[in-house]
Amino acid sequence: MLLLLTAVLVPYIVLAALSLRLIGQERQLEARRAVEERERRLTLLGQQLLSLLENLKLRQLARLVPRGDGSAPGLPMDRAIAFVGLVREGRLRLPWDDDPGVRLFRRLINEARFAGQLRQVEAEERAARYEKASALYNRVIEAARHPAQQAYARLLLAQGLEKAGRKPESRRQYERVLELPLEHVDEYGVPLAFYAAPHLLGDDLRRQGILRTIRMAAEGEGWLSPAALYLARDLARTLKVSELESRFTEQIRDREQAEALQADFARLVPVRPAREPLWSAYGQPVWLVSVAAGPGGVDAWVLAVRANEALRALDSIVRLAGHGEGDSLGESFPDLSVALPATVEHPASYRQTLLISALALTLTLTLLAAYLLWRDVRRDVELAEMRSEFVSSVSHELKTPLTTVRMFTETMRLDEEMDRQTQCEYLDTVLSESERLGRLVDNVLDFAKIEQGARIYHRQPVRLEEVVEESARVIGYPLKQSGFTLDLAVERTLPPIEADRDALLQAILNLLTNAMKYSGKSRRIGLELRREGANALIAVTDCGVGIAPEEHARIFDRFYRAPASQSQYIPGAGLGLTLVAHIAKAHGGDVAVRSSPGAGSTFTIRLPIRAE
Ligand code: ADP
Repeated sequence: MLLLLTAVLVPYIVLAALSLRLIGQERQLEARRAVEERERRLTLLGQQLLSLLENLKLRQLARLVPRGDGSAPGLPMDRAIAFVGLVREGRLRLPWDDDPGVRLFRRLINEARFAGQLRQVEAEERAARYEKASALYNRVIEAARHPAQQAYARLLLAQGLEKAGRKPESRRQYERVLELPLEHVDEYGVPLAFYAAPHLLGDDLRRQGILRTIRMAAEGEGWLSPAALYLARDLARTLKVSELESRFTEQIRDREQAEALQADFARLVPVRPAREPLWSAYGQPVWLVSVAAGPGGVDAWVLAVRANEALRALDSIVRLAGHGEGDSLGESFPDLSVALPATVEHPASYRQTLLISALALTLTLTLLAAYLLWRDVRRDVELAEMRSEFVSSVSHELKTPLTTVRMFTETMRLDEEMDRQTQCEYLDTVLSESERLGRLVDNVLDFAKIEQGARIYHRQPVRLEEVVEESARVIGYPLKQSGFTLDLAVERTLPPIEADRDALLQAILNLLTNAMKYSGKSRRIGLELRREGANALIAVTDCGVGIAPEEHARIFDRFYRAPASQSQYIPGAGLGLTLVAHIAKAHGGDVAVRSSPGAGSTFTIRLPIRAE
C-alpha cells in the first residue's frame, strides 16, 4: 500500500510542484508585461496629448499674428482653451484686462465736451433738481457724438427719472438700455444692459428680454469681465434658469483661477519659452499652461488649456489624478498626474486557467487510477485469502468422511462377532460417507475444470422427476441419520429435457447439502419439482438460518462464504453454489434465492423446457 501511494503520489507531487512553478513564472511574466503595456500606453497618450496641444497652440497663434499690435487676443477658437493671455514686462495680462470696449468707454467718457455736460447734470442731481437733470440728459443724448456716449447717458437718464419719481418714463428708458448691444460696457467691462435688467424684472414681458440678453452674454463672442459675470449670474439666479446660472458660475471659477494664475505666474511658468515643449499643470480643474514666443513685440503668449477637455478630445479613458498620485505623462507634463484604468483581462490569464485546469484534470485522473489500482489489489488480496481458506476448508472436509470410513471399517474388522444388522448399518454409513467424499472431490474437480474453461456437459434426454428422486434417495441416508424429514413434491407431467444428468444431480445435491448444513435447529427440508410456463423449477427449501439480503448477490461467487456461516464454524469451501449457478447457466437457465435471516431459504433452479 505504501509502495502504491509512493508510486502515485511522488510523481504527482513533482508534477504539481513543477506546474506551480510554471504558474508562478507565468504570473511574473504577466505582471512585467502589464507594466510594459502600461508604460507604452502612457507614452503614447503623452505623445498624443502633446501633439494635440501643440497643434492647438499653433492654430491659435496663427490667429493672433494679424493682431500683432499687442491688443488683447480674441475669443479662443476651441472650447478646450481656458484663455489666451500675453506677457508684458514679466506680467501676465488676462484677456479681459485689456477689453477694447472698456478702453473705448474710458476715452469717450473723458472726452472734454461730454465730460463737461455730465458734470453739469450731476450738479443738478446733487441739488435734487431732478426735472432739470432729466431734461439735460435728454439734451446730452441728442448731442452725443458716439452711440456709446448715448447709451451711457440714457442709463443715467433712466436712473434720474427714477429718482424724480417718473416711474413709467424711467422704465421706458431702461427698456431701451436693455436692448443695447452687449459691446456697450462701462469701465468695469459690464454691459450697460445688465444695469437696466434688475429694474425690469417685475414685468413678465421684459423678463424674456432679460433672459435673451444674458443668454447672448453667455454664448456670445467676447470675454465678460468678472464683474459682468457676477451680475449675469445673479440675474440667471433670479430668473431661475439654473443651466445659465451654472454656466456663469463655471466662467467665474475660470476667471478666479486665471487671476490666481496671474498672481502666481512669475513663480510657476518660466517666461522664456523652453526649448522643449512644456505644459505645466495648474489649478483645479487642471489647466495645462504653456508659454509661446509671441508675435508682435510682446514678451510671450500664454495658452491655458483645460486638461479634461483635451483628454476627452483624445477619446481617452484616462482620468486626472490628484497631485502625487497616478502616473506621469512624460517630461513635457512635469506636474500632471493621470490615473490609467487597469488593463482588461490579459490573454495570459487564460493560459493560467488552462494550466490550472490541466493540473486539476491530471490530479483527478491520477486519483482515479490510484483508486482503480487499489481496488484491484484489494480484490486480489481478498481472493488470495479466500483461496488459502479454501484449501484449509477442503482438507478439513475431506478428513471428516475419511475418518468416519476408517473408524467404521476398523471396528468391523476387530469385532468378528458383530451381528448382521449392525454390519449393514456400518456399511451404509461407510457407503454414504464415501459418496459424500466423492461429491466433494467432484465439486473440487469440476470447479477446477470450470476455472480452466474445460467443463464439458454430456447432454441426453433426461426425465427431471427421475433426477430429483435420485437426489432424494442419495441424500436419504445422511438425512435420516441427522433426523431430517424431506418433503418431496414432484410433478410427473414434465417432458424429458436435453441435459447432463450427473451435473443436474450434482446441483440438486449441493442445494440439499447446503439446506442440511444451514438448517440450524430446524429438521424439515422441502424438495419440489414443478412446471411454470415454459420452465421447469426445482426448489430446495429449508427453515434454517437464512441469508441477509446484502449477501444474496455474493454467495454465488467462488470461495465466498457469508460471514455468519464462517463464524458458526459450519464446514464449507464456498464452491457449492458457484457450481449450481454454472450448471444452471450451461442449461440455459439460472438459480435464484429467496431468503431472509432466521426465516429459512429457498433456492430455485430454473431450466427451460422445449415446447412439446
Ligand atoms: P459453502 O456452503 O461450502 O460455504 P456454498 O457456495 O454452497 O459454499 O454457499 C455459499 C454460502 O452461501 C455459504 O457459505 C452460506 O453462507 C450461504 N448459503 C448457501 N446455502 C444456504 C442456505 N440454504 N441457508 C443459508 N445460507 C446458505
